Amino acid sequence: MSTHRLTAPAPGWTAATDVVVVGSGVAGLTVALNVRKAGLRVMVVTKAMLDDGSTRWAQGGVAAALGEGDTPEQHLDDTLVAGAGLCDEEAVRTLVTEGPDAVRRLIATGALFDRGEDGEILLTREGGHHRDRIVHAGGDATGAEISRALVAAVHTDPGIELIEHALVLDLLTDAAGHAAGLTLHVMGEGQRDGVGAVRARAVVLATGGMGQVFSATTNPAVSTGDGVALALRAGAAVTDLEFVQFHPTVLWLGPEAEGQQPLVSEAVRGEGAHLVDADGVRFMVGQHELAELAPRDIVAKAITRRMQEQGADHMFLDGRHFGAEMWEQRFPTILASCRAHGIDPVTEPIPVAPAAHYASGGVRTDGHGRTSVPGLYACGEVACTGVHGANRLASNSLLEGLVFAERIAADLSGRHRAGELPERTVDVEATRSAHPVPLPPSEARAEIQRLMSRGAGVLRSASSMAGTAAGLGLIAEQGYAHVAEEKPADPRVETWEAANLLLVATALVAAAAQRAETRGCHWREDFPERDDAHWRRHLITTLAATGGPVSTPEEQ
Ligand SMILES: Cc1cc2nc3c(=O)[nH]c(=O)nc-3n(C[C@H](O)[C@H](O)[C@H](O)COP(=O)(O)OP(=O)(O)OC[C@H]3O[C@@H](n4cnc5c(N)ncnc54)[C@H](O)[C@@H]3O)c2cc1C
Repeated sequence: MSTHRLTAPAPGWTAATDVVVVGSGVAGLTVALNVRKAGLRVMVVTKAMLDDGSTRWAQGGVAAALGEGDTPEQHLDDTLVAGAGLCDEEAVRTLVTEGPDAVRRLIATGALFDRGEDGEILLTREGGHHRDRIVHAGGDATGAEISRALVAAVHTDPGIELIEHALVLDLLTDAAGHAAGLTLHVMGEGQRDGVGAVRARAVVLATGGMGQVFSATTNPAVSTGDGVALALRAGAAVTDLEFVQFHPTVLWLGPEAEGQQPLVSEAVRGEGAHLVDADGVRFMVGQHELAELAPRDIVAKAITRRMQEQGADHMFLDGRHFGAEMWEQRFPTILASCRAHGIDPVTEPIPVAPAAHYASGGVRTDGHGRTSVPGLYACGEVACTGVHGANRLASNSLLEGLVFAERIAADLSGRHRAGELPERTVDVEATRSAHPVPLPPSEARAEIQRLMSRGAGVLRSASSMAGTAAGLGLIAEQGYAHVAEEKPADPRVETWEAANLLLVATALVAAAAQRAETRGCHWREDFPERDDAHWRRHLITTLAATGGPVSTPEEQ
């Protein structure tokens, strides 16, 4: 392999703040608003517009034990079942006990959730929940409302500086190894254009998911796993990467469809829509006590299995019995997106197939959002707090973003009061990321996605993943060669994203190939059983000195 590699070009400008937050979804903006309460200055940097992450796309809602008769303990039980033996019970307990108040605080910030005529918050049910405990907004536009409320709140605080179109590249650390800022590539005009550096006393990653590592995903274009790639390059531990949740019911747009695809929320099944095959047979009945409302991995596997049996590339979700009025009032977004693609759910079943939806794993954190690099925090989908285990329970992710963002802010505030946050003394030039980045051509993105969907998607086996790993290795080789040819000072954003996708895909396959069992949303065709004796433990992934990811099973 060629030794030509690229590090970030020298920063052309620098800025400073107390806490720099990367990402402007539910997690990032909640950190920003709460850190401000301690009087610290905050800078939020985000690579597109403020509302371009997954948060805006969330449909179903936020899970919290707010209903009569419901308790955090019952929410905990459902979460542990979905997590298939790998949840961190302490983290789940934090989520479910602090969750209801976190939702109330979100309402106080300005989020408007759907209420009944009596003024009470309406609660619905989703897959894997034994209670009605999902709060929603605008029917099926929950994320858009949360995003609207949080964006409005950060705009009113002059102590929060917002930088859009700023792609964060790598972490800066001080002489003691403490996170001390970031390098970033701003696509703007004026003083802060091109590659620059932000000095800070702490860094929070809230960069969302990595769905774009697969061809078909519900995630928006920005979800390229940048936070996980950055953390790996910074020497942080990541974990549970193999547990990618494939949403069972994504609108099927044809065999050639790529990139973000419209989701048909679990809530549609929650309200009584049926999954049927081309012959109209309800194939989930008899497979699980909750039938269509079984946990997502069970439904995704059953759909995939049925598709294989029948040689079909999709199944159907039948909600015709809802009638036009219910579709219009309860699911206006889904109705509109189906109709935009020529399907009318009022009169015909919706064609659906599974697609990559949620990363249960990510940058490993403790209960306060701290990663293994001092001063580097992570929350939201980029983090692995341990609440999801081997499979996320529906609507627990927005809640996790809220709860653990608040916990990070509390930790930072406490450390600030105790005088424990380091000053910004870092010499930017001396501490730029030591880990070089092989840059593949930006066109590699589509090839990485195809390789991942083919060999490391819903169905995985040693041989399918070996093929994917070989293909990814080839792209890395081309990346190194490409660097030798390219002028290294000005890589494009697409190129940085392709580099991150390549690193994250390689790490994901390395972990998935090691986990020789089927558990949660990780389904191995060659190891169809769950193997608690060997695998009731996490795989921790770090970057070796040679640059490649290494996954090590945690001690049992
Ligand atoms: C279609 C869909 C429906 C969903 N429905 C639900 C639901 O009903 N309930 C639920 O709980 N969850 C749902 N989820 C999951 C949930 O929306 C996400 O897990 C959650 O919103 C993640 O929030 P976040 O703040 O961590 O990240 P995001 O909202 O994804 O935000 C990430 C931010 O980081 C920025 N960013 C990324 N990389 C960089 C970089 N290198 N430099 C600078 N900025 C960067 C992005 O631009 C973005 O602003 C859904 C997800 C999707 C895609």
